[in-house]
Amino acid sequence: MQAPEDLKPLLEEILQDALTITDGKVADYIPALAEVDREHCALTVATLDGKITSVGDSTTVYSIQSISKIFGLMMAMERIGDELWQRVQMEPSGQPFNSIVQLEWEKGIPRNPMINAGAILVSDVLVSHYSTSKSALLNMVRSLCNNEGILADSRVHESEKSHGSRNSALAYLMKSFGNINSDVTEVLDHYFWQCSLTLSTEDLARGLAFLANRGVCPRSGEKITSHRDAQRINALLSTSGMYDQSGEFAFTVGLPAKSGVGGGMVAIVPDYGVISAWSPPLNSYGNPARAMAMIRNFANRLGLSVY
Ligand code: GLN
Repeated sequence: MQAPEDLKPLLEEILQDALTITDGKVADYIPALAEVDREHCALTVATLDGKITSVGDSTTVYSIQSISKIFGLMMAMERIGDELWQRVQMEPSGQPFNSIVQLEWEKGIPRNPMINAGAILVSDVLVSHYSTSKSALLNMVRSLCNNEGILADSRVHESEKSHGSRNSALAYLMKSFGNINSDVTEVLDHYFWQCSLTLSTEDLARGLAFLANRGVCPRSGEKITSHRDAQRINALLSTSGMYDQSGEFAFTVGLPAKSGVGGGMVAIVPDYGVISAWSPPLNSYGNPARAMAMIRNFANRLGLSVY
């Protein structure tokens, strides 16, 4: 199907379809996420001509969780270049996002930057190379999204810290192999803080448009990353962004994508735009059931697979 001039009726139909999906469980490892209304649902499409079309709760902010791994990764790539790939691999893990088993086998080198171990490693790079890694990341996200009001949710941040045993285990295991340079507490604090950033589907659609536009922000014309790095980030999102469901997502949808346990998800459509969706209930892989269904429907209806 050719993309219609006005996307709104199509998005409305897709959102209504997604609301019929009632399975899935809202993340409950911290109270601040468990309390979020499971009925929230939003879908936004930002196209490279600057148009943003949304339906549902598209201006409500939510905890972006692992979607923040994209922002951390691009900063680390920019800061230390190819040195990064000595410390984290670029291979799919085929394991749950918080798995620890491969990390022991592979001597503290995470399989990729999209699983928790990889994102904690990236946080170490940021903490080691920026005097204030959190404000550097926040300034970048605000500027990309053109929204100075973006904040981290301190309640989510604090409860991530007090329920962070598994992430701490990942960090200390990497430290024992000599792959974490900074103080582990500081590294984890950065990681939990970036997970607690709150953005809307519209913020994220706007903020990640450069990945669909060869590294250039379509709004300002500013070069955010090189074309090569945009391609590389998209490649990692394609192979690892949906964790151990990345293969199925590539097969059924065929777009670079990233999910978070707050129920958010983004998919990059090179040379077209960004699809951004949110609804809290998660499937057994920790990916958001309705958000995935909405992105799959939109991409399939318009034939957007990159393959
Ligand atoms: N804060 C979550 C964790 O570290 C992020 C994971 C996710 O969104 N998949 O477990």
